[in-house]
Amino acid sequence: MERLDHFMARAAAAYYAKGEGIGRDFTTAPEMSQAFGECLGLWAAVTWQSMGAPARIILAELGPGRGTLMADALRAIDQMMPAFAQALELHLVETSPALRAAQADKLPGRVTAWHADAVSLPDGPAILIANEFFDALPIRQFIRREVWRERFVADGSFVEQPSNHDEPAPEGSIREISEPALATAAGLGQRLTQQGGALLILDYGPAESGFGDTLQALHGNAPCDPLATPGEADITAHVDFAALARASGAAAHSPLPMGLFLQRLGLIARSAMLAQAAPAQAGAILAAAQRLVAPEGMGRLFKAMVLAHPDLSTPAGFEA
Ligand code: SAH
Repeated sequence: MERLDHFMARAAAAYYAKGEGIGRDFTTAPEMSQAFGECLGLWAAVTWQSMGAPARIILAELGPGRGTLMADALRAIDQMMPAFAQALELHLVETSPALRAAQADKLPGRVTAWHADAVSLPDGPAILIANEFFDALPIRQFIRREVWRERFVADGSFVEQPSNHDEPAPEGSIREISEPALATAAGLGQRLTQQGGALLILDYGPAESGFGDTLQALHGNAPCDPLATPGEADITAHVDFAALARASGAAAHSPLPMGLFLQRLGLIARSAMLAQAAPAQAGAILAAAQRLVAPEGMGRLFKAMVLAHPDLSTPAGFEA
């Protein structure tokens, strides 16, 4: 018998260590459209300017996957804002050796260092991006019976154990808590508040905290039982944005539906340009852009939230 978060940590570590899942089991925004990383690169550049264009800045990505987002971001930054390209020092937070190798291939000569944890990032003002990172961090699940109980895993099934979790809720409610996600938000929030900068989180989950079982697993782009094949499927849960904002103690902007955020950054216009330049792929390019912004695609379930130094002006895309 194992606590759910311990099970999930083991499953995720084994799964990402292989580094083959992205594209096969699940598709992420940067893998769908180069415009996604380009827009985020320009968002980082504008954020750097609004910080007063410091001569040295840490640019960090949490869970960079195949390195696609950052490669697209740097290409846009190099072209549009070379002064930011000069100032930035790139750091990647990644535990998987296979994905670190893929990132090194995609970003030759650009990465200053890899880190196992955001805690070891060097000091200084920083701009951080996390796309589909927090959803991969392990959760605990509590379920309301007569009293609250905690869900453990034994032989591929849930078993309930006594718990001292305590909050009012109707019978059957499930509360999910990701302690590593809250600890990461707290550590980064403190750092941003003291040293300046911003963290952009893009992930899926509701804007307000709620009850519910959101644990899910994907294999071959199809849902599967999250407890059945640990290490073989991508296992994730909804991100509790409100809880991350509270834990960070930093200034929180939104969360906003991701589709709205990307539209405000010009993703559709950029995609139209790309489509015009490559008529043979135009249909696919525009379809990917639509999927990213459409409410029935990834535009509404996914959210964008920024945690930042309190003096930072409203980040691009978050204007009321
Ligand atoms: N951002 C990428 C990949 C998302 S998959 C994209 O959008 O395509 C999740 C990423 O987070 C992978 O790179 C995975 O190896 C990394 N990851 C998962 N758990 C982690 C942890 N505890 N510490 C550091 N990286 C982790």
